[in-house]
Amino acid sequence: MLDVLIIGSGPAGLSAAIYAKRANLDVTVLEKLYMGTGQVAESGRVDNYLGLPGMSGYEMGEAFRRHAEEFGVSFLEGEAAAIAKMQEGFEVSLADGRQLTAKTVIYAAGATHRHLGIDGEDAFAGRGVSYCAVCDGAFYRGKTVAVAGGGNTALDDALYLSEMCEKVYLIHRRAEFRGAAVTLEKLKAKKNVEILAPAVISAVKGEKKVSGVVLADGRDIACQGLFIAVGMMPQTELLNGVISLDAAGYAMADETGKTSLAGFFVAGDVRNKALRQVVTAAADGANAAVSAAEYLRQG
Ligand code: NAP
Repeated sequence: MLDVLIIGSGPAGLSAAIYAKRANLDVTVLEKLYMGTGQVAESGRVDNYLGLPGMSGYEMGEAFRRHAEEFGVSFLEGEAAAIAKMQEGFEVSLADGRQLTAKTVIYAAGATHRHLGIDGEDAFAGRGVSYCAVCDGAFYRGKTVAVAGGGNTALDDALYLSEMCEKVYLIHRRAEFRGAAVTLEKLKAKKNVEILAPAVISAVKGEKKVSGVVLADGRDIACQGLFIAVGMMPQTELLNGVISLDAAGYAMADETGKTSLAGFFVAGDVRNKALRQVVTAAADGANAAVSAAEYLRQG
């Protein structure tokens, strides 16, 4: 039985792994994707991580992972499908039927992209509909694209895409933007960016690939790509009935990572907290590992 099973290999999981390893614990990181490093890999530039200004998200994820590997953390590829509290510790069943047991669990599975839930969104996923401008933007060089959303991700994505696309529509459901005013000003100054707000996208259309989006007021916007950046949802379905979640599905825990279930900790974007950033995920991971070590010491 492991001392600590960490579910998720983003900054929260990897930071927890380093702290757990340094506390001399037997730790394994379960990762859904081989060599995955979580959402950070999707960020073009991370400009707000202390000491590493301008590093690409991909490079940062790789550096975090290398660090954990150098400390001797072991990784296992697999998807957690169920979590059960046993008399001693926890049993985690994987989607492929394997079972893992651990005295403590640190759940750091992050968040997934929220969908708009409109006609054509699922049908054109990967054929014009994308949730990651940094990953897919280059496919739309010289083309016209639309970005949906009004937060920092949407604004950053629109700016990033404006550097390579012929034209970028930024489409937001309200006139006010949640994202940084400074980025919005930069977008307004761009000749190839058109802001449509308030405007609601009601459908994605096309044949084999996307040819445009339809707005609720009936307007047709011709474009070859739609980048959807309308926020994230915590990956906590597995935790329903296991620990307390808030109304939005985030795990209830303070910065120690302690949940309603003794021995089960959370870290990173799955936790209900004010700021979801790489730096807060890494801090959460450290805290959760220290909490797990303390729990194990107390027997
Ligand atoms: P977010 O701040 O939650 O913004 C989501 C946006 O999507 C909002 O403008 C929201 O509209 C819109 N939206 C949500 N559901 C929608 C729907 N069904 N239809 C249409 N629009 C919808 O999410 P985010 O931009 O992904 O950012 C997440 C966090 O990461 C934030 O704290 C953000 O500041 C941070 N972040 C920071 C940076 C940076 O520092 N450079 C970069 C990226 C992200 P309403 O405004 O009307 O609710």
